[in-house]
Amino acid sequence: MINLILFGPPGSGKGTQAAKLVEKYGLLHISTGDLFRYEMGNDTPLGLEAKSYIEKGELVPDSVTVGMLRNKVEANPDVEGYIFDGFPRTIPQAEALDRLLAEKNDAVSKLIMLDVADNELVKRLLVRGKTSGRKDDSDESIIRNRIEVYKSETSPVFDYYAAKGQAVKVDGIGSIDEIFSRLCAEIDPLQS
Ligand code: ADP
Repeated sequence: MINLILFGPPGSGKGTQAAKLVEKYGLLHISTGDLFRYEMGNDTPLGLEAKSYIEKGELVPDSVTVGMLRNKVEANPDVEGYIFDGFPRTIPQAEALDRLLAEKNDAVSKLIMLDVADNELVKRLLVRGKTSGRKDDSDESIIRNRIEVYKSETSPVFDYYAAKGQAVKVDGIGSIDEIFSRLCAEIDPLQS
């Protein structure tokens, strides 16, 4: 199994690259942001709870997020591996993921961070907001809050995996194909 964490700030291109990685490596893409948007779109109790945080640019509480992630993983046991996108976003989420994979006698293979400067992120998200219909992409102060939350709560997850020798940074500026090649250079050696 290859279990990747695709990591990086909001707007760093995780979703775009995940779609290409799925095609090349046949992994299951699990995006907690997409899962939340699906729940919100269906007005489920989980969606309604998530919405109150997401619209402010805050994180959904760990217990809710971890439960949803676990359900998705357990519903898809027979895959070649997973691409986790937007998860883990806190240290407790990272610990929960490690436990979940350990139960399957498995582990995180690598965390790859897409490195993009703040100003570029804000620009990209405001452009995305014009077509995505996402409220959290259309207001600069909400976007800036998401970037701050990334710095304070999420970036320690990079250090957590770096301490185990499992985290790398890739330059997230360039064409989609250039960035994809940089990611593949990190993933190909994992294939045995
Ligand atoms: P982006 O692509 O901008 O990083 P996502 O689509 O991954 O955003 O997530 C949108 C929002 O959903 C986040 O701002 C957050 O409120 C919520 N969310 C997604 N994943 C998580 C998570 N792992 N923990 C807590 N909240 C999350």
